[in-house]
Amino acid sequence: MFKKVHRRLTLLCTGITTIIMIVMSLGYLYVSEQNLYKNQFNSFKNDMTTISTNLERQSVISMEWLAKMEAQGNYSFFLLDNGVPFLYNKLNNLGDSSQKDTLLQECLDEYNQTFKISVVSDEKISFSYYTSYQIEFEFSSPSTGEDYFCSVINLERNSSTLQVIVLSSLDALHRQILEQRMLFVFIDLITMIVLGVFSFAFTGKLLKPIEENQQKQIQFVAAASHELRTPLAVILSSAECCRDAEQEKQASFLNTIHNEGLRMRTLINDMLTLSSSDSHNFSIEKKETELDTLLMNSYEAFEPLAKEHKLSLSIQLPKESLPSCNCDKDRISQVISILLHNAISYTKEGGKIELSLSFQKEHFYLSVSDNGIGISDEDKKKIFGRFYRAEKARSTKGHFGLGLSIAYEIVKSHHGNLSVKDATGGGSIFTIELPRK
Ligand code: ADP
Repeated sequence: MFKKVHRRLTLLCTGITTIIMIVMSLGYLYVSEQNLYKNQFNSFKNDMTTISTNLERQSVISMEWLAKMEAQGNYSFFLLDNGVPFLYNKLNNLGDSSQKDTLLQECLDEYNQTFKISVVSDEKISFSYYTSYQIEFEFSSPSTGEDYFCSVINLERNSSTLQVIVLSSLDALHRQILEQRMLFVFIDLITMIVLGVFSFAFTGKLLKPIEENQQKQIQFVAAASHELRTPLAVILSSAECCRDAEQEKQASFLNTIHNEGLRMRTLINDMLTLSSSDSHNFSIEKKETELDTLLMNSYEAFEPLAKEHKLSLSIQLPKESLPSCNCDKDRISQVISILLHNAISYTKEGGKIELSLSFQKEHFYLSVSDNGIGISDEDKKKIFGRFYRAEKARSTKGHFGLGLSIAYEIVKSHHGNLSVKDATGGGSIFTIELPRK
């Protein structure tokens, strides 16, 4: 399921970013192409003004000068004297002569159709030789299928009119625009691939904790069902036996049912505590608490149980008075109870358990040490996990492997830390670190 979600998220992220990128690229291309076109047209217009000014000053039009100008700007010139084509037209660089004639005709038709009426208002300049007016426009040739910038320069002197038609092919501009578009397609494709890879890695990272969490939930439900199944099976079989048993034996079956019921209640309460911690509904009511008193109370509460298990329980409190700790008294008591319960359960007869308290750099350190069976380094990493029990502790009845995970959640909600290390000479030391505030 997660693989599918991962794939979909990758597609979504890549898709959205690619669409944004394409829209931005198109916008950029549009503006850039408009500017390229405008710049080329303006540069063409400027060249035409220079050419027209030069022509006005020449009393006799120089063919070499025209050829030079053509070569420089990659232009094609056509000259008409009172509408009659000059011989020069045959020499210029626009393909074979019939094609040139058609092109010239098409250009003049376009000019006549579009500008003939408005030409009067166009710029008129008077010099000593000619009076001129010029006009530039874009023109698409139906015969060649190419686009051109075209300039028609009219030079008038007395009764004669010299018309110079200059054509500049837009081929190079179109090639430049095409190259730019190809470059953008290439960049967009590469970016799309990079985005895809990045989105895949990013969404994978994003989904990992969710996947792990779901995995944990599945394991939790499986372990909880497994733990509940055992007492339930005992209850059911005891109830059945009780029904058929003689009256004096029934009490023993009822007692088993009661005990297994209590076991189930403890387990369900533990699971509810963890579930409220997971859903952040874990209520913590912090109050100023004297931790030495709290530890003393725990010591007194557990001393009879320790005695019952033939264990010696002792307490070490600092001689000087300590500041109070801002914590939830009941919850911290619960943590100490879990640790003491474990210490009693996993320490053999005649063993020693010690409770101690110290205060350093605004932090309290409460520890429960025992000289019991100890915890291997491998297990130390796992015992705070839910339903985890070390191999050698499996046989201990009434333990579900939830105590330390509850203790860990409580200490964490106090912004503290719960750690375990080996005690010198065997056994374990569990330490609760709590900030003063
Ligand atoms: P449980 O209810 O099984 O004790 P916990 O979460 O409290 O569950 O502890 C998890 C496991 O950690 C225990 O099953 C046991 O293997 C190990 N453990 C906890 N405390 C001690 C201890 N004082 N000495 C040895 N092993 C311990």
